[in-house]
Amino acid sequence: MCGILGIVGAQGSTISPTLYDGLLVLQHRGQDAAGILTSTGSRVYHRRANGLVRDVFQLKHIQLLQGSMGIGHVRYPTAGSSSAAEAQPFYTNSPFGLSIAHNGNLTNSDELIGDLQRLDHRRINTDSDSEALLNLFAAELQRVVSGRGPIDVALDEEAVFQAVERLHKRAVGSFSVVAMITGWGMVAIRDKNGIRPLCMGSRVVEGNTEWIFASESVALDVLDFKLDRDVAPGETVIVRSNGARSTRISAENADHRPCIFEHVYFSRPDSTIDGISVHSARLRMGRLLGERILAERPSHGIDVVVPVPDSGRIAALELARTMGVQYREGFVKNRYIGRTFIMPGQSMRKDSVRKKLNTIEREFSGKNVLIVDDSIVRGNTSKRIVEMARSAGAKKVYFASCAPPVVHPNVYGIDMPAREEYIAHGRSTDEVCEAIGADWMVYQRLDDLIVACTGNSNQDVTFDCSCFDGEYIAGQIDTEYLDRLEAKRKDGAKDAQPAMP
Ligand code: AMP
Repeated sequence: MCGILGIVGAQGSTISPTLYDGLLVLQHRGQDAAGILTSTGSRVYHRRANGLVRDVFQLKHIQLLQGSMGIGHVRYPTAGSSSAAEAQPFYTNSPFGLSIAHNGNLTNSDELIGDLQRLDHRRINTDSDSEALLNLFAAELQRVVSGRGPIDVALDEEAVFQAVERLHKRAVGSFSVVAMITGWGMVAIRDKNGIRPLCMGSRVVEGNTEWIFASESVALDVLDFKLDRDVAPGETVIVRSNGARSTRISAENADHRPCIFEHVYFSRPDSTIDGISVHSARLRMGRLLGERILAERPSHGIDVVVPVPDSGRIAALELARTMGVQYREGFVKNRYIGRTFIMPGQSMRKDSVRKKLNTIEREFSGKNVLIVDDSIVRGNTSKRIVEMARSAGAKKVYFASCAPPVVHPNVYGIDMPAREEYIAHGRSTDEVCEAIGADWMVYQRLDDLIVACTGNSNQDVTFDCSCFDGEYIAGQIDTEYLDRLEAKRKDGAKDAQPAMP
């Protein structure tokens, strides 16, 4: 998962400080690398490196990033690579000085890279599907303008729309993109299933309208932009450097399938995705799970509901309220340690759960405790947490997951490990319960999760739930593809890699 951001500011303004502030707000979407690329009328300014936003950029870097428009990216690697060369945005000089920030994952990147080399004579310098996507856009833009005759014909919106239409015919998978054409404008692109989020907004500064595109609406809130709407599945939105805006649906057969895991875990609760508040979705997850526990275990004997901070908190609060049981904070999180899951390699992750969380003994001692988390993937976190609750003196430890068992790989941009690494792979709920050491456990049902994430939005939403149900909307996802993906993503492969520079 990654975070992307693009802003077209008032002409003559300097946009890099705003991009920096925006990336800080999107930091939860990726902590591995960060980058900003800005443009004046004819030049680009670029900084990208491994690390958190605050570490990658010092004041001197921001001051060097000139220009009134720019794009930014925070990276969370899905294919196992943490190399600095794969930090985004990516830039290519030809044609027109094109740059890109991408969130998602192309499921045909091997084939695409082959075709780009063979048919388009482009050279891809990394294994990144995002670099491939940039080169695809560049190749198609070149093709469109070359087909028109002399190269000095000025670039116009029609050429860009045609190039994106062609891009959609060749790129398969998930892609929410902000691209920039040096000195010309910004192009926002969302794949035909709208799997990854992308919203847009505007603000007026001294009479000039400024435009923003971002993975999550929280970035707009914090930067004082008004959320106008989400970029539609298959839509292309162009904003010229003078603020002129145009839009077109560029993909055939658009069919909206937003990723449900954004609501479960990834997005910030203060974001609204495609009209649905993440916070409200998490409250409903808690309510539905609470109602089910009451129905299935009327004499549950639970003394206290304890959330796993921060990811389980909102749902746990509503679950406790629904069940009429006390909600208590029993785990304290070290807020200066990043998300444990996001660290590359299994051994680092195992270790970091204990470093990240500590117990308040009196909240556990002598009590029957229900621990609530958003999801269980490998089960390392839940196993460790159950152990900690027991050592803090809990009488009984029960565990509730606000998401169903994760049993299928996510091929659209979330780093879900190889199948055999999921704790629920080949195990019944009772067996998972035994493996994490709980007295009993409950998973959310998929139909309830869908109801929770749809809410009363009055929308007919069909979510991408592939990590729960194995139904993949985009691409030919067969066993051979999954085997290849797993080989790339396996923790073993990550552990074998050199440490991050
Ligand atoms: P584990 O079961 O040990 O693999 O870790 C699950 C924990 O990681 C949960 O508490 C979630 O909050 C968090 N989590 C769930 N899915 C993901 C994901 N795809 N990427 C990062 N963190 C995740």
